[in-house]
Amino acid sequence: MKILAVGAHLDDIEIACGGTLAKAIKNGHKVKTLIMSKSGYTNKDGEIQRTDESAVEEGTEALKILGVEDIEILNFETKDIPFRSDVVNAIDICISEYNPDIIFTHHPFDTHQAHVGVSNATIAAARRKNTIFFYEPISPSGRSYVAFRPQLYIPIEDTIDLKLNSLRAHKTEYHKFGKEDWIEGVNARCGFRGYEIGKKFAEAFEILRMEINILKEMKF
Ligand SMILES: [Zn+2]
Repeated sequence: MKILAVGAHLDDIEIACGGTLAKAIKNGHKVKTLIMSKSGYTNKDGEIQRTDESAVEEGTEALKILGVEDIEILNFETKDIPFRSDVVNAIDICISEYNPDIIFTHHPFDTHQAHVGVSNATIAAARRKNTIFFYEPISPSGRSYVAFRPQLYIPIEDTIDLKLNSLRAHKTEYHKFGKEDWIEGVNARCGFRGYEIGKKFAEAFEILRMEINILKEMKF
């Protein structure tokens, strides 16, 4: 089975569905990640907080820790990825060429404008695809102002360590977001989602739509 995860930035996918992607790879599925920006950014005073080069280097390392080898990074502006035809078109090209069975993308009610743009653009680009899941906003993703409704849980006991190590590989973010406090926060969310289904760790998703056969083929 082929899985495509779409994210605005290097780190979004690892935080929200890194355990699931690592698990899919362990189960023999193909995984591709499409990141819409090189992900460097400045603060409101224009001072560089993260260069494109370090974001790409750290993000590539992080995805490799999960086992992802097919990594495509586009060149949209980090903070400005709107729901617009050129963004839809870029995702459409990737979907047409890769032909995924499952697509993961941002929750459309995230509060980061680039996450919202990418979510809506993915929904538009994936209009002919049958299985699309929204991953859960987890800090530093924007907090949702509409409650996230967990509808699909994927246990990640076997890959939680890979997920947390992939976050540590984002050295710039790791230092900015509180080092091990950040890791512990993400770990706690996965522990909470796991607790809800009687497992140690899990990631949760909302279902936009889903083809029923997909569950059999996931072999999760
Ligand atoms: Zn992001």
